Amino acid sequence: MRTPTRTRLAARVTLAAVVAGSAVMGCAALKKVPGLGAIISANEDLTPENEYYVGRSVATNIMAKYNYAYLDKEAILAGRLEGLTEYVSRVGNILAAKAIEVPRKGDRPTPIAGFHFLVLDAPDEINAFAAPGGFILVTSGAVKLAKTEDELAAILAHEIGHVVRGHALGTIKSARFAGLTKSALDTVKVEGQDGQQTKLTEAFGGSMDDMITGMTVKGYSQESEFDADKVGINLMLRAGYDPAAFVRYLEAMQKNESTKSGGGFYSTHPKAGTRISKLQGHVKKMGARKVVQARTDRFLAATATLRQ
Ligand SMILES: [Zn+2]
Repeated sequence: MRTPTRTRLAARVTLAAVVAGSAVMGCAALKKVPGLGAIISANEDLTPENEYYVGRSVATNIMAKYNYAYLDKEAILAGRLEGLTEYVSRVGNILAAKAIEVPRKGDRPTPIAGFHFLVLDAPDEINAFAAPGGFILVTSGAVKLAKTEDELAAILAHEIGHVVRGHALGTIKSARFAGLTKSALDTVKVEGQDGQQTKLTEAFGGSMDDMITGMTVKGYSQESEFDADKVGINLMLRAGYDPAAFVRYLEAMQKNESTKSGGGFYSTHPKAGTRISKLQGHVKKMGARKVVQARTDRFLAATATLRQ
């Protein structure tokens, strides 16, 4: 797959705005945060606006890797959410509303323009990505693997967990920050004037490469993945979903593991079996919640096209 050039990436940034809004976080030299691992404390000079633009560009770059093949494209380009994208966004936002309650290091608020969800048209691939600033991309293959809305919530909640914990920002090599001057950061605060997006990609190009490689090739550390799993399960519980659906979704992935030649989620995440055994006790402690039939019915209706 071809990686877009910086120039192309800059030109495409406005397209990402369609699935984007605004976001916030902040981060400084990487250091270990008790209980959170080497994350989040990245660069305190990074303003929420910086993170928003960086995250939006990262999401755009991932979309480019899928040749901008995403569902409900016409509606999205016209500024509307429709079809499966609308449904997935609704489910995602139920969980995102609960993510606002999750305490974040350094008084970092949740993305100010909320989370944004987009379904990539990749029916044979089980994968999902979370860019800083709350941009979450999920393949149609990953949606199709779910049997209920609660299981769909599981994969979305895991990705929200990555955003909440700042895992993508944690993949930026600390050396990158030495090259980021205050003035470079200031240039990316405002959008809309010629050259600013280019400056953004110049200033953050290397950092974006770190994040994109982390998300698509290297994966995060196992510690980060289990952390996102735990955050995700907690979000599900708070939102009224059955946390056990998280394990059921992983079981479906596990079954699929043997039939797939690898790639996608399988290459960037710990084995589903390992995740299941780590999480089972945690889920049991929470107790099962009822999977409401009405939720499953609307899930089946919204995803019917994927099964045709
Ligand atoms: Zn993950």
